[in-house]
Amino acid sequence: MNAVAATLQDRQVARIVRGLPTSDGAGVRLTRVIGQPGLPELDPFLMLDEFGTDNPTDYIAGFPSHPHRGFETVTYMLDGRMRHKDNHGHEGVLVPGSVQWMTAGRGIVHSEMPEQEQGRMRGFQLWLNLPAARKMVAPAYQEFEPSKIPVASPAHGVHVKVIAGEVGTIKGPVSQPATDPTYLDVELAAGRVFTHALPEGHSAFVYVFEGALQVGSNADAPVVGTHQLAVMGPGRRLTLRAPATAGEVAGRAIVVAGRPLREPVARHGPFVMNTQAEIVQAFQDYQNGRF
Ligand code: FE
Repeated sequence: MNAVAATLQDRQVARIVRGLPTSDGAGVRLTRVIGQPGLPELDPFLMLDEFGTDNPTDYIAGFPSHPHRGFETVTYMLDGRMRHKDNHGHEGVLVPGSVQWMTAGRGIVHSEMPEQEQGRMRGFQLWLNLPAARKMVAPAYQEFEPSKIPVASPAHGVHVKVIAGEVGTIKGPVSQPATDPTYLDVELAAGRVFTHALPEGHSAFVYVFEGALQVGSNADAPVVGTHQLAVMGPGRRLTLRAPATAGEVAGRAIVVAGRPLREPVARHGPFVMNTQAEIVQAFQDYQNGRF
């Protein structure tokens, strides 16, 4: 009986999704993993883009001035440097390993431009929805240099950068009560296992970006390859296992979870509201310089 109960608590893979190559901004090539026909959204997550290239022509055009309203953009840089500048006077450079958690709220206009003309650019941008009651809050930033992102080592060969959420006694710096997010960068050496409790009822996904990981506790749990996203089914505990024969870093993934909002989503480009009327209002406010 206990064994059965434990099994029911383990989250298994519901489905595996591969991203769609696309371009955005002024012609930045990226892979859209959430927010494309194969996975339009995973409440409260609206979009996940992975960018990763050594070729400057893929990223040099950047993301010139554009608006956002009604949600949060979370940028996690792995390689490269990006300059961020908004119409409220906020400016900074995202360096490798840094995180920018931007609450667009009632509106900002900003640019995100590469601060380099050659070399590697790699990272993620996640769009996280806000509940109706929080969509029109004042814009705000939670920005963290690499040194401000704590690393948990719950077992030998297991290294977890805790951006949001908690691993053991290590707490990530991001705070967002609206969706109570978890955002981990998990790196496993060959043969190592990471188990982690995720709040029951939260939407959760694992996106593998280096190597491969067996995801879920079942003996026949699927091996999720590089650039594949596993949507997790219900339960409490997540298990990641690195293949036994692989290099020093056998598998690396972001593990992301959050409380679903279960509200209607009206979405048009960079505006994500609850109703079509609010989208029309967003366009009017933007055009009239009210961001
Ligand atoms: Fe943006």
